[in-house]
Amino acid sequence: MNQYLKQMIELADIDNYISSFEPELEQMRSEATKLENELQEQSNDLQQIKEEIAQTQRNISERNVRMVTLKDQQRTQEARSSEIRKEREANASSMQDQYTKEQMKVISDEIIKLEKDQESKELKLNDRLKELANIQIKISTHENLFGGKLSAINDNRKKVYIEREILVSSMEKKIFALYGKIRRWAKETTAVPVVKGACYGCFMKLSDQAIVEVKQSKDIVTCPNCGRLLYLEDSFQTRKKAI
Ligand SMILES: [Zn+2]
Repeated sequence: MNQYLKQMIELADIDNYISSFEPELEQMRSEATKLENELQEQSNDLQQIKEEIAQTQRNISERNVRMVTLKDQQRTQEARSSEIRKEREANASSMQDQYTKEQMKVISDEIIKLEKDQESKELKLNDRLKELANIQIKISTHENLFGGKLSAINDNRKKVYIEREILVSSMEKKIFALYGKIRRWAKETTAVPVVKGACYGCFMKLSDQAIVEVKQSKDIVTCPNCGRLLYLEDSFQTRKKAI
């Protein structure tokens, strides 16, 4: 195989190997973001419920205070009614007494309702706390997994980067520039095999002449249709992901 072509195919393979982990890492990053968002949402929800509980608590206290006032009022009224002689005054006093009792009933019903409300909110709060704890477990599991994976990938990449450096330093500038030119648009398909007489990049059938050139491999052979680097299918073994 032409030496320059070989270098470019090898470089393409190394670059493909380095970028092959990207989708996986991207997926892990997006999973982490999703979990963080979930955590944020749950925390906001939790805060909201806590505020609601505090408000209900204030409402209950406020009614308890009013209840105490009304009870005092009732006692005063009872004391006074026992002293009242005149019928008219007695009637007025019992009406007032009635009114106080009604108010007390209203407030006591409100308190019962508020306490029930409080109870259901506390149950909700507990559920949210459990969910929050679950998300935190998921996050730390994911962080461990991600961390492990990332460092394994980085170790692997480091080794391949060294190989890349050595290869690039042995390449002629114009060859490296040619590679870069094709790589810019062809990305992972910069160098492709000829499969069943067709370019594996654009899938166009190659002329007999072009196939002969690929077989002889005396020069750098590019696809006449798309411009990708061409090589025979079994003349080069691409590296497999180790992780
Ligand atoms: Zn092509």
